[in-house]
Amino acid sequence: MADSILEKWDKLKLTDAEQAEVLIDLSADGIAFRRGTLCLLGLVVADKVVNKEAFKATMVQIWKIRGGVQFKGVGTNLFLIEFQNSSDIAKVKLGRPWQFDRNLICLEDYNGLIAPGEMVFDKEPMWVQMHNIPLGGMTRRVGRNIGELVGEVLEVDVDKEGVGWGPYLRVNISVNITKPLMRGVVSSFNGNRVWIPFKYERLPFFCFSCGIIKHGAAGCEKMTQMRSMHGNEEFQYGAWLRASYQKHPNRDVPGGLAGEGGNPVSNAGRKGDDEDVA
Ligand SMILES: [Zn+2]
Repeated sequence: MADSILEKWDKLKLTDAEQAEVLIDLSADGIAFRRGTLCLLGLVVADKVVNKEAFKATMVQIWKIRGGVQFKGVGTNLFLIEFQNSSDIAKVKLGRPWQFDRNLICLEDYNGLIAPGEMVFDKEPMWVQMHNIPLGGMTRRVGRNIGELVGEVLEVDVDKEGVGWGPYLRVNISVNITKPLMRGVVSSFNGNRVWIPFKYERLPFFCFSCGIIKHGAAGCEKMTQMRSMHGNEEFQYGAWLRASYQKHPNRDVPGGLAGEGGNPVSNAGRKGDDEDVA
C-alpha cells in the first residue's frame, strides 16, 4: 500500500498547503533515536508473502536470542526487528547472510531517519570461497584484489600474517543481490592464467536463469521464456554455486540450525533446485 501512495504523489498537482514543507528535527526525539540503535530492518526476498508469526518464531530460535526481540511488519515482507540488547543484534549481524525458508533475509541498520519503504535493499554480506588459487596467492591482498571485483570486501579469512592457506580462500563481501552472481573470475598468477571458481556459503534461493537473488516485483521474464523454450536445461547458473562446506561463527551452537538459517521442516517440502526463483 505504501508503494502506491509514494508513486502517486509524483503525479499530483499539490496545493500550496500541501507543499508547505514541514521541517522536523528528528534528533529532538531522543528515545526514538536510542531505540533505533538496536533495530534492523529485514526484507525477506521471497515471491510469496511471509507470515510474520512464523518468521518471528523461526528466527528467534535460529538466532538464539537471549534478550527480547520484537518484530513489526512495516511493508510486504519487510520487518522492523527491535532487539533488547546489543549482543543479540551484534550476533545476528555477524552471522549474515540469514535465510527464512531458504529465502534471503536482507538486513539493514535502521536509524529511524527515513521511512522503511524508502530504504534500499540491494546488498548483503556473504562469504565467498575462491577456489583454485595457488597457495602462494592465498593472502589477504589477493583476497581483496579479487573480492573487489564482486563488491565491497569486508574481511578476508586469513591468519595474523595475512595468509589463508587451505582448500580455498574465504572472503566476506557485500554482494549486490540485484545483479547476477559472479561465478568466478579469470586471474593471472605470474603469467599463469587460471579460472578461479567462486562458491557462496549459505547461498539462498536465486534465479538459475540470470543468477540474481532479488528480482523486481515482476519476477523473471527470462526464466519464463527459457522454460517454455528449453525446459530446465541450459541454465547458466545452478546449485553448484553453493559451497558444500560452510563455516559459520554460530555453527557450534547446540541444535546445529544456526548455520542453515532456514526452516528445515518447510525446506523438506520444496521440490528441486530448479525452483530457485527469488
Ligand atoms: Zn531471473
